[in-house]
Amino acid sequence: MTHDITVIGSNMMELTTDIDRMPKLGETVSAPSFHMAFGGKGANQAYAAAQLGSSVAMISKVGSDSLGQAYLEHFQQSGIDITGVSVGNQSNGVAPCFIQGNMNSIIVVQGANSELTPDVLDQYTDLIKSSKMVILQQEISLATDYRAIDLAEQFHVPVMLNPAPANDNVDLEHITKCEFYSPNETELGRLTHLPVESIDQIKDAAHSLVDQGVKNVIVTIGSRGALWVCADHEELIPSYKVNAVDSIGAGDSFVGAFAHYYTNGEDIPTALRHANAYAAVTVTMSGSQTSYPSAAELPQLQE
Ligand code: ADP
Repeated sequence: MTHDITVIGSNMMELTTDIDRMPKLGETVSAPSFHMAFGGKGANQAYAAAQLGSSVAMISKVGSDSLGQAYLEHFQQSGIDITGVSVGNQSNGVAPCFIQGNMNSIIVVQGANSELTPDVLDQYTDLIKSSKMVILQQEISLATDYRAIDLAEQFHVPVMLNPAPANDNVDLEHITKCEFYSPNETELGRLTHLPVESIDQIKDAAHSLVDQGVKNVIVTIGSRGALWVCADHEELIPSYKVNAVDSIGAGDSFVGAFAHYYTNGEDIPTALRHANAYAAVTVTMSGSQTSYPSAAELPQLQE
């Protein structure tokens, strides 16, 4: 079976509690409300592409607990192929998040995501081989990402690497093998050790990566849109003006949407414009996957 996109990466259950104040160590406090939602960077990106109508396969590890079972069912209900999703020995990855006013404190427990080791990918080479694109992030081990990049190179499948969360120990040789390297401006600054406040500084930092052999750098810059830099071209694609409510998961929606439009045959600037539009819609609603509309629900935005 062929797929448009294979996403190799994490899934996390978001456990969000609204609090009046954080308890001190040894103290118990009651809190006004709690809710649970499907998240994790890999799963978010897969979900966005699937919502837009791409055929998506996921390679991921869910937990051996009820949260892992719930995530498996969620993947299936979202139309995502779970051939590459296996049950680990640990709990599912979880992200307990405590929200007080407009501040939040988040704890990330990798759980079964830490069992997505490089050798696991060897069982699913058919999924990688039969895809038009592989998407990676850095919420699993870098060794697994590198193995995925090497396998995709062997099968001539383009890779989009979203280097989030930032990691200072990345190996540039593997990044140069990716077709698309897509950091936000903060992650770009961490990798290049260059200032990234102004658009000109972001352009310089992106060019520094291209000068070192990275093929296409796509920097997401929040409400300023997305910048594409490659050896012979540079283009800033502005975002759409929307009433922003919550930008959680906006970067993931952008990556999934770009992969969807690009693997559907759009050229890079057109796919970026459409990815900007999709991500802009998601910031008008709260949450990550809960804010990702389907293609049918997607409103037309004014540029
Ligand atoms: P991340 O979530 O990784 O930090 P960004 O904040 O750069 O990523 O956002 C990713 C994309 O989401 C942007 O490139 C843009 O297309 C869209 N976006 C984010 N914030 C806004 C906003 N306030 N208005 C419109 N689009 C936005």
